[in-house]
Amino acid sequence: MIELNNSFKNLNKNYLFVEIENRRKNCRRNDIINLGVGDTVRPLFRSAYFGYRQGAKGQGNVKTYKGYPPDFGYDFFIDSVVDRYSRLGVKMEGEEITVNDGAKTDLFLMMPLFKGVTALIHNPSYPAYLDQNLAFANEVRFISANRENNFLPLPDEIDDDLKGKSLLIYICSPDNPTGATYTFDDLKKWVDYAIKTQSVIVFDGAYVDYVRGNYPKSIFQIKGAENVAIEICSLSKGANFTNLRLGFTAIKKQFMLKGVSVLNTFKRLKSIQANGVSFANQLAGAMAISEEGEKEIFKNTNYYLQNAQIIARALKGLGVYYTGGVNSPYIFASCPKGLNSFDTFDILLNDYGIVVTPGSGFNFGGENYIRLTGFTQQKSAYRSIKRLKSFYEKYS
Ligand code: PLP
Repeated sequence: MIELNNSFKNLNKNYLFVEIENRRKNCRRNDIINLGVGDTVRPLFRSAYFGYRQGAKGQGNVKTYKGYPPDFGYDFFIDSVVDRYSRLGVKMEGEEITVNDGAKTDLFLMMPLFKGVTALIHNPSYPAYLDQNLAFANEVRFISANRENNFLPLPDEIDDDLKGKSLLIYICSPDNPTGATYTFDDLKKWVDYAIKTQSVIVFDGAYVDYVRGNYPKSIFQIKGAENVAIEICSLSKGANFTNLRLGFTAIKKQFMLKGVSVLNTFKRLKSIQANGVSFANQLAGAMAISEEGEKEIFKNTNYYLQNAQIIARALKGLGVYYTGGVNSPYIFASCPKGLNSFDTFDILLNDYGIVVTPGSGFNFGGENYIRLTGFTQQKSAYRSIKRLKSFYEKYS
């Protein structure tokens, strides 16, 4: 008899953001400010909207109608991604890119791609890494990202019994939830470690559009990464594509495991799992990540960064410890003494009308923190200041 995969018993009943949404729905207030789920709130910018509209219009005409898209992406989109990499000083070939409908889908594909995995996951981190590995019954080990290491753990902090073992190493930089961003030198340490131990790095670039200053925007800017890394990118947070759904994955041709091409295996897997992404989405995306579009990405991400800064300044004024908000739209802030993450979440929601994300939702390393997001309207960021002030003054 067929049974359900019992690995799901090891997962929390609800995915974190479903749990938050359920609690929000149960709150009767009608003045809620949402600084919780990291969802974009601004419309598509002009070039992307124009691309999307043009692409959609074509579907309404027999002469321009398109059926199934190519499995790995339309040439114009792939070219646009290759150009974007070349502006970062990375030489990428079109066949090394595959399109996806958002980063989460390809993160998930890491599960059937590999076998015998021990995943190394930052604690705290984006919850899908842990959930996906648990669902596939992989061994999961954590590496602590904490105040002492500036939320940027390095390979020498890996548990002794794991040292030398080949691992599936998750790196998200800038990070969700902490906003911590690796320097070139520190990312090189991870790449060197992966080379030495025949590990694989899954580099999650969901927030690279928020990088300001001299930090890597792609792991392929680091020498040696071409032999150990898979980079998964998204247009969700930089170009407001959370609804449209679009991203891409880059794997270099030379990346082999036991003599087998990782790229070819991934492509074979993708062609089993997906049937491509719509023409309209890819046209919108190609416009968004073009050289012109990138200026709009910059303006768009600045808006969210400014919101994060409005919140950060308020916390600073209150003497509350926080990190993030510089290369990232997220602020990771301490809870008042004596309140854990979910206590703080519930009080902020019910008594102050602010939705945040409990830090412990990003695993136990996030306990006693909350994540606040700049993904909101500017007036809401300003409105939140007074409420945060009353809350922290009352509970500190
Ligand atoms: N990776 C990280 C770190 C994220 O925070 C998110 C979304 O919040 C994703 C991936 C998923 O992004 P997408 O919308 O492209 O699926």
